[in-house]
Amino acid sequence: MTRERLRTDRTRLRRYPKRAAYAREDLYAILDEAPVCHLGFAVEGQPYVIPTLCARVGDALYLHGSAASRTLRAAGEGIPVCVTATIVDGLVLARSAFFHSVNYRSVVVLGRAEPVDDPEEKTLALERFIDAVVPGRSQEVRAADRRELRATSILRLAIDEASAKIRNGPPSDREDDLALDAWSGVIPLELRPLDPVPDPTLRDGIAVPPSVAGYRVRHAAHPLHLAGP
Ligand SMILES: Cc1cc2nc3c(=O)[nH]c(=O)nc-3n(C[C@H](O)[C@H](O)[C@H](O)COP(=O)(O)OP(=O)(O)OC[C@H]3O[C@@H](n4cnc5c(N)ncnc54)[C@H](O)[C@@H]3O)c2cc1C
Repeated sequence: MTRERLRTDRTRLRRYPKRAAYAREDLYAILDEAPVCHLGFAVEGQPYVIPTLCARVGDALYLHGSAASRTLRAAGEGIPVCVTATIVDGLVLARSAFFHSVNYRSVVVLGRAEPVDDPEEKTLALERFIDAVVPGRSQEVRAADRRELRATSILRLAIDEASAKIRNGPPSDREDDLALDAWSGVIPLELRPLDPVPDPTLRDGIAVPPSVAGYRVRHAAHPLHLAGP
């Protein structure tokens, strides 16, 4: 798949196009690091934007939830959906109010989500979903039984039409503001795991498993260094 395939007329950035990325590896680094995404869809003309987990497996995004979920039912009926993922890397403080900004990496994916129905495919998809969120976790826990599988909806959204937008770097003050006394710079922000907290009902003697001990927020190696503003 080429960068031209992901960039369509609908996903081509018009505003600050130099911040755009369309290559799969750039988009996937952001999707894999973002802890949450937002799923947008319209029902009877009313747009909804619902926060949810999503997991990339290959060239698809998986979404999962209760079979009773209105969101997943609606999105799984083949209606157009939009998934966005956002990582905030810093607050950009300029010398003027106007040029304050945010360093961020975000992705927008457009398409139609399909339900994963076959029980075997569903089991595999759920396993891969869990491992995409916490690598190795599926091997440490009881797999879903048939009743739980029936109660779970899984949707697959092919990543065929998408864009990323990335801002990094210092503020972009106006030349004639550089002499002002106001401090300017960036407050970097990052998401990182703290020490795991055992469930109060956890039996004695159960050690922290490798998936938890080894959990790291996957930080992209900032593949793109695009110039501000
Ligand atoms: C970080 C995060 C991760 C999540 N991950 C998942 C996931 O992987 N799978 C999953 O099924 N659910 C997840 N949820 C919950 C998800 O946002 C929905 O609440 C849930 O899917 C139920 O959707 P529904 O359409 O059935 O809700 P309904 O109860 O049918 O929604 C009815 C109305 O309730 C309101 N509503 C629903 N959800 C929210 C919300 N989160 N915040 C505020 N108002 C809301 C909206 O107005 C909506 O139109 C997550 C939520 C968060 C914040």
